[in-house]
Amino acid sequence: MAFVKSGRGGNGGDFFRLPVRCPWLTSLAGLLLFILGSIACSKGSSSAPSPAAENGATTPPAQQITTSVVSESGPGETGPLPQIDSKRAFQYIKEIVAFGTRPMGSENHKKVENYITSHLKGDQVEDDAFTVDTVEGKFPVRNIIAKYPGTKDGIIVILGHYDTNYPLRNIGFVGANDGGSSSAILLEYANQLRGKKRDGYSVWLVWTDGEEAVREWSERDSLYGTKHLAEKWEKDGTLKKIKALFVMDMIGDTDLNIEKETHAPPWLTDLVYEAAERGGVQSHFYGRAAAIEDDHIPFVKRGVPSIDIIDLDYGYNNVFHHTAQDTLDKLSPRSLEIVGNTTLEAIRMLDRR
Ligand SMILES: [Zn+2]
Repeated sequence: MAFVKSGRGGNGGDFFRLPVRCPWLTSLAGLLLFILGSIACSKGSSSAPSPAAENGATTPPAQQITTSVVSESGPGETGPLPQIDSKRAFQYIKEIVAFGTRPMGSENHKKVENYITSHLKGDQVEDDAFTVDTVEGKFPVRNIIAKYPGTKDGIIVILGHYDTNYPLRNIGFVGANDGGSSSAILLEYANQLRGKKRDGYSVWLVWTDGEEAVREWSERDSLYGTKHLAEKWEKDGTLKKIKALFVMDMIGDTDLNIEKETHAPPWLTDLVYEAAERGGVQSHFYGRAAAIEDDHIPFVKRGVPSIDIIDLDYGYNNVFHHTAQDTLDKLSPRSLEIVGNTTLEAIRMLDRR
């Protein structure tokens, strides 16, 4: 899904670049290398673009140099960066899309539920299942939760919806990106998480249901699954244990531009950016800022530190979003890899905070 509440105009007129960061003064190395750093930061565009810059974007020289300093004290402490199997994740999207349109209450929806749970055999899986009364009638809703325990007290939650848009059920909408990519990357996270107790926080993956509106997006008509789950977790005390919550939504676009979503607390926004820097993929993050309504909102309202990892620029001017054009050919394994590795690294950084 997702609904842009504010923050950008119709043609992306408020598009902006983040200011060039030159945090030399904040690091010990920076103090020692202050003079050299000052020169480097003021060099302007005469330096060669970073090899990490993708899609033709040029990383400012200051960032290039900063990244090399970070990498000496960053990943070196923790070993190699996380690496998902992006081809496998992409294959999951392919298989999910093959079920066809998957709105709440449909036969195909049931098939995707079974598809997801069939990949979680042996894992600790729970359902948050209920019936919701909507303007289009009653629907069964099922959030699927898989829990991967850690040694540290606290939980990191990753959400991604698997339903497709109900109003688009008759136009052949298969939601390769919107619903497909989120479900698939969570399945790949499960592959990365299972089998050993994490040396860090517990991680809970939630395939959320009823994210989409059944008629027209509003506070009432949207986020059916997460509104229920947030309320349930508030009552049973789970919310207090959540250190951070991530939403994955529409993360497969070949031309990947993750928004700087403004409901997230700055420390969490920065953490994800730093994780992206460690992988050299920061050019795909935060090209613009927007307040977006998505599955994190019921948790944001309850004070849970939450971030929406979403690319709401799907095709020029978002033309593929919520159309029959949301198909596999628009997506790439590389985008799943960028988001997947960055998210897993962000979690690893959280473990050490
Ligand atoms: Zn959608």
